[in-house]
Amino acid sequence: MSDIIRLLSDAVANQIAAGEVIQRPASVLKELVENALDAGATSVRVVIKDAGRTLIAVSDNGKGMSDTDARMAFERHATSKITDAQDLFHIRTMGFRGEALASIAAVAQVEMRSRQAESELGTFIEIAGSRMVRQEAVQCDKGTTFQVKNLFFNVPARRRFLKSDSVEKTHLLNEFYRIALVNPGIEFYFYDGDEEVFHLQESNLKVRIDQVFGNARRKMSQQLLDIEAGTSLVSLKGFVGRPESAQKSAHQYFFVNGRYMRHPYFHKAVMMAYSQLIPAGENPHYFIYFEVDPETIDINIHPTKTEIKFENEQAIWSILSAAVKESLGKFNVVPSIDFDRDESSEIPVLRPDMPVVQPQTSFNPAYNPFQSSGHSYSRPSVNWEALFRQNENFDRSQPEPPGPSSQQQLHEDVETSGVYFQMKDRYILTSVKSGMLVIDQRRAHIRVLFDEYMKELSQRKGFSQQLLFPEYIELMPEELPFFEQIRDDLRVLGFDTELEDGCRLMVRGIASQLRSSEKVVPLISDMLVRVKNSYGDSGEKIREELALSLAESSAIPAVGRMSNEEMAHLTEQLFACPQHQHTPDGRTIMIIISQEELANRFK
Ligand code: ADP
Ligand code: MG
Repeated sequence: MSDIIRLLSDAVANQIAAGEVIQRPASVLKELVENALDAGATSVRVVIKDAGRTLIAVSDNGKGMSDTDARMAFERHATSKITDAQDLFHIRTMGFRGEALASIAAVAQVEMRSRQAESELGTFIEIAGSRMVRQEAVQCDKGTTFQVKNLFFNVPARRRFLKSDSVEKTHLLNEFYRIALVNPGIEFYFYDGDEEVFHLQESNLKVRIDQVFGNARRKMSQQLLDIEAGTSLVSLKGFVGRPESAQKSAHQYFFVNGRYMRHPYFHKAVMMAYSQLIPAGENPHYFIYFEVDPETIDINIHPTKTEIKFENEQAIWSILSAAVKESLGKFNVVPSIDFDRDESSEIPVLRPDMPVVQPQTSFNPAYNPFQSSGHSYSRPSVNWEALFRQNENFDRSQPEPPGPSSQQQLHEDVETSGVYFQMKDRYILTSVKSGMLVIDQRRAHIRVLFDEYMKELSQRKGFSQQLLFPEYIELMPEELPFFEQIRDDLRVLGFDTELEDGCRLMVRGIASQLRSSEKVVPLISDMLVRVKNSYGDSGEKIREELALSLAESSAIPAVGRMSNEEMAHLTEQLFACPQHQHTPDGRTIMIIISQEELANRFK
């Protein structure tokens, strides 16, 4: 029998791949405008005809391309923006996959003119259905112009699949907004046929929002409040709508590092800040710009997806939530007492629709006083005894009280000196048999708590503390099945919950080690996201996700002063964990700098 497997021709392969990247005229607009920005343009002009069906043209005054680069640009995986896999972790350009132009050229008739500032003549390329028609020298302005004609001319099925002109135009405008709103320093023109729809002059963020969404009657910016927060994890700025400007379909935009993103989890943080301020069914406007270290996000998920994964999602959730509440409070749109975060006096919002419940007093045996909530500035004194006792309660099968003798339980290599030093309020240093041991304090605590929670889950007994006033979480209907899935485990971990009106979750009790009730809402949201992402995984895997989420919420902060006893105790607890080298998600907890290494450095 003869062989039947053949390699597809480039043209066919490109056309198939184009289905992924280029779904409609709006995808072409996005890719071309992003390329213009990546090329350093300060002015970009977009022209569409027939909702992009017959023409999408984008001209820029960017750096242009050489003759060879112009040809190369249409090859699949041809990019000037990254060279190796490592670069994927510091992406600052919009593009990096090198597939947009190849895809566009596979499914349309493309003409391109491009000239670099230093060249006298530019280059002209015509390419259709991946086939180079011609390339020649041409006189043209500095920069690059793409004309993409008759999209899907060679893929009739796709062409038929396009929606009405008005729908496709809405998509085109939405893509345009997503780029224009985060690039206020760039001038943009947008023409629909001969009609100028937008001429956005170079400006700042606030003015740009007005240029895009304002109208003659009312400036958009008058309906907005500033928000701002700067931390080492994230800096965020932008605007949220005054509650009275909420409407059914609001303008809601998140951007991260200059790129539009969708983020249902962060969206919830914003929505919850408004929960008592706007009527059900209405939505606040928001334009929120995040800046984070590019290494801490993953934008690599899918070419057309706008979801972005953050490494520090929970912490950023809390920062965002606090920032929105603060700005709503600062501008006196709600009584400022709601934002008084003094730990000692939690005055709840009175909800008229809630039944009045008898306050219950409770105390938390696992109270972990050196854990800062992020809002209190005093550093309370430490009570390790409490932690010891709580540990005893937790595991009665281990009768030996912790004390000097537990030093012997340490890993055989790690006979600590008993003398601890805390560096930068963040690392625990001690001398061990083989050299110097350095422990990341927060990661160590995460490991310790994680192991405890896993034990509680497997023994089906944990500890709860009643809240003085219940917390409420609005669940989305699609989250309900995930909640049902973890309801039992949550109960074991100490969460006393009740579902009201189908979707409102009342939390009356929380895990005993989760010191602040403020954390419960982001925590449960985070758990639901994790369960959703672990869809199809085993029950054990899901319990691990829950335990990790709870451990991250209840662990000590990355930076915070510890006493000698605390460091000694945490170190002991850590070495009692079978896996003390790494956090459950694989991050390094400790390193040992060997004596030899030290000696070498002193040579
Ligand atoms: P990517 O943007 O992922 O690199 P593209 O297929 O969109 O991939 O573009 C391929 C290459 O073509 C880019 O890396 C860039 O070098 C070049 N290029 C595309 N558009 C422009 C432009 N408007 N100005 C200058 N160079 C461009
Ligand atoms: Mg690109």
